[in-house]
Amino acid sequence: MLSFFVWAIRILKLLLALGLSFRINSLQHFAVLFVIQLVDSIDEFKRNRKMEEDLEKAIASSRHHGKAKVSFHVATINKPQEEYKILVDNANKPFDHVFLERSEDGLRFIHPLEKLSVMDFVDNNNLIEKKPVKPLPLEETPFKIVEEVKDLKELAATLQSVEEFAVDLEHNQYRSFQGLTCLMQISTRTEDYIVDTFKLWDHIGPYLRELFKDPKKKKVMHGADRDIIWLQRDFGIYVCNLFDTGQASRVLKLERKSLEFLLKHYCGVAANKEYQNADWRIRPLPDVMTRYAREDTHYLLYIYDVMQIDLHIMAKENEQSDSPLIEVYKRSYDVCMQLYEKELLTGDSYLHVHGVQTGNLNAVQLAIIAGLCEWRDQIARADDESTGYVLPNKTLIDIAKDMPINVGQLRRLLKSKHPYIERNFDAVISVIRRAMQNAAAFEPVVQSLKDWRPGTFEKTIKPMIEKPGTEFTAYLKKQSSDVGVLPSKRKFDSDYKLQAKEVVKVSKSKPDNVIVLDDDDDTDEQGWERGDASNRALEMPSKGSLSMTQVPKTSSTEIVVIEDDDESENDSKSREDEDMIRRSEKHRRFMSLKRGFLNI
Ligand code: AMP
Ligand code: ZN
Ligand code: MN
Repeated sequence: MLSFFVWAIRILKLLLALGLSFRINSLQHFAVLFVIQLVDSIDEFKRNRKMEEDLEKAIASSRHHGKAKVSFHVATINKPQEEYKILVDNANKPFDHVFLERSEDGLRFIHPLEKLSVMDFVDNNNLIEKKPVKPLPLEETPFKIVEEVKDLKELAATLQSVEEFAVDLEHNQYRSFQGLTCLMQISTRTEDYIVDTFKLWDHIGPYLRELFKDPKKKKVMHGADRDIIWLQRDFGIYVCNLFDTGQASRVLKLERKSLEFLLKHYCGVAANKEYQNADWRIRPLPDVMTRYAREDTHYLLYIYDVMQIDLHIMAKENEQSDSPLIEVYKRSYDVCMQLYEKELLTGDSYLHVHGVQTGNLNAVQLAIIAGLCEWRDQIARADDESTGYVLPNKTLIDIAKDMPINVGQLRRLLKSKHPYIERNFDAVISVIRRAMQNAAAFEPVVQSLKDWRPGTFEKTIKPMIEKPGTEFTAYLKKQSSDVGVLPSKRKFDSDYKLQAKEVVKVSKSKPDNVIVLDDDDDTDEQGWERGDASNRALEMPSKGSLSMTQVPKTSSTEIVVIEDDDESENDSKSREDEDMIRRSEKHRRFMSLKRGFLNI
């Protein structure tokens, strides 16, 4: 009955929109408008209710080992990029940091921090006498969802008046190409805020940029590596004067580095981390998620107070080393100095799909993978989806291994729903067929992969496909079926070298033994696979067990070159060695970040 009514109104609306005039007086006209408004509200209500139901179902259906696992993807959410007209530049061109100055030769961006010194941020004054300021309980703390420009303006004025504030972001990487910031949580000493970044997208930079850049204002964040580059990418915000509580927990050598642990350890709060991987695009934000998001910043300034004192009284490692407090600021400085880089499709991108280099694949299979990577990359950029959503890595490799040559074979191969493949069966098959014809060109790659031995990581494979010149200047809603396959314009070079971006642990005694190392303490603080989101959702143990037991990341591709030397473990490591290890850790972190955005 109701739906009949809804449809009748929709038709009426359509007629009105088409400009059909009715012989009605103004009262009747008002009544019609009123009914339309009412039905719109019912519509909206029903949609919201459906979304909540989806979310609840997702929570219920995935109760696992007594732990709720929240769905990372609520398919019924309208894409915020469309709903809020968020413009994204997915062109296969490097990211332009338009808010940064360039070096004189124009080749480099200059981060505002370069003109500042770490020591500008270290507060050594009377730290012993300073008492940590406990926050009020969440329930007694004033809280505001910032979703209007005037509220953002007020927030900016508040932040102008404080010395320090805590920040965190929630993000979605599954339903957009580069990722999308969904929320910005900010806590001062007395208030909590959640900024609806979708609603205020274009205003956030103008109102908050200077505050984040202000070297006199302390920003406290936990494990800020990714947040720093999301702020740059989405809002042109560059952070100066950061205290990263994740870095501090490393320097303090705490047993765990996760925020969950810090909350328990310092505040006696048992945080509910199941929502970390939720679909943060959902609106209105359910109460449980609002609470979770607030908890991520609510206690941070207090944790900062306590850590700062602990660091101040902690002994130096040795005479030459920096004081622990300075060390934390140095590390936080390095975190801020990272610059966002857009993921670019190059000729060898396909080699970085997890499992390709070690999969023992033949030339035909590699050719299919290269072809499908190109196909999904183009669609993902045009439709602003992650490559993992268009075609998950596992499916990509399954297809390549199976080599289906018609739609029937391809259909039989797919075990779950794949909206993009299903809408483009023919295109996928023609990519596969064309790739098969091209396979000979991949023989040298097969050979390189076979010859590739741990330790020979200096080889480079020349791009096999010219950099696609296709440009997507702005995000436009596009029918995916409009997107064809890139014309094959491959140029082949006989001089292939392997670009082994991974560094490999080499054992002197067993040269063939490649050991994939666990991502050690990074797992704890930011313990999630940065592979494609759909695979992650299937494979991810719930966060609690992950952080407690350090589940080895079997799919990790982060490998470190270490000579298999018994002495390397002992304490007589020179400072140079330590620096080397630190640098390699930084590189490793950087690589894993890159891979996260690659999404393949
Ligand atoms: P956090 O810094 O913990 O607030 O996390 C920020 C964002 O990182 C979340 O909104 C997620 O998008 C992503 N993230 C954090 N942890 C995970 C995880 N375990 N799995 C997938 N995504 C995660
Ligand atoms: Zn965060
Ligand atoms: Mn968070």
